[in-house]
Amino acid sequence: MPELPEVETVKNAIAEAAEGGVLLSIWTSGQKMRWPIPKDIAEMLTHGKVIGLRRRGKYIIMEIAQNNNAQYAMIIHLGMSGSVRIYPEKLTGQSKKHDHLMMMVETNGKAKTLVLNDPRRFGGIQITPYGEDENHPLLKNMGIEPLGNELSADYMADAFEGKTAPVKSVLLDQRIIAGIGNIYASEALYLAKISPKRQAKNVSYTKLEALNESIRSVLAKAIEAGGTSLRDHVQPGGEIGYFAQQLNVYGREGEACPECAKPIKMIRQTGRASFYCSSCQR
Ligand SMILES: [Zn+2]
Repeated sequence: MPELPEVETVKNAIAEAAEGGVLLSIWTSGQKMRWPIPKDIAEMLTHGKVIGLRRRGKYIIMEIAQNNNAQYAMIIHLGMSGSVRIYPEKLTGQSKKHDHLMMMVETNGKAKTLVLNDPRRFGGIQITPYGEDENHPLLKNMGIEPLGNELSADYMADAFEGKTAPVKSVLLDQRIIAGIGNIYASEALYLAKISPKRQAKNVSYTKLEALNESIRSVLAKAIEAGGTSLRDHVQPGGEIGYFAQQLNVYGREGEACPECAKPIKMIRQTGRASFYCSSCQR
């Protein structure tokens, strides 16, 4: 599942390809994704200018200005299996299986094609008037961004107060911190030496300071890996949104902890796999 760094990477790739460009055409599969794709999407957005790309949590927001001064925000979610392909040309062939959105964008006189593919269709697209996107039901209850100035040990101390749920589950609560998913929650807790099972309210202030650092460092490192993957590996039309990276504990059950060499454990917490070292993380 694409997490914040993957979404950031996709957002950056779309920005590089489309920012400042004009949407020449829009095609949709007509299939229902998490929500039905707005039927009048082509009517609303064709000939619009792409004025900016942003990320909020795991959502990509494309700002589009129309000639009649209407401005829209297209909210894109990659769901469980979404990815984007960007072709440095007008795409003339057929769409591939599971393609749901195809946009032709012209920047500096050159046409490019952006394609959203999503086999499991848990992702989706919504359109709102620009400026109202922060109040959109998908975004309005979203917590703070983990990479901004708002995240701190103090913020988490307040948010975790009285919470008896395991700290791992609380980190996944998008209403508290937006965009931290299963992989990076496990990794951040490992680096901060906090057991995923510890009740959120019982994480010490010193450990919260370490957690603030580790959340930022695991996400920043992954975003960097995404950027590297874009520069080095992605072929025109290659899938953007997944890349290999170094993980300490996630997916490494039974392997040696990089710190103490004891085997890494896996447990299930509210249905999600958590990987940790029971010796290093308390
Ligand atoms: Zn260890």
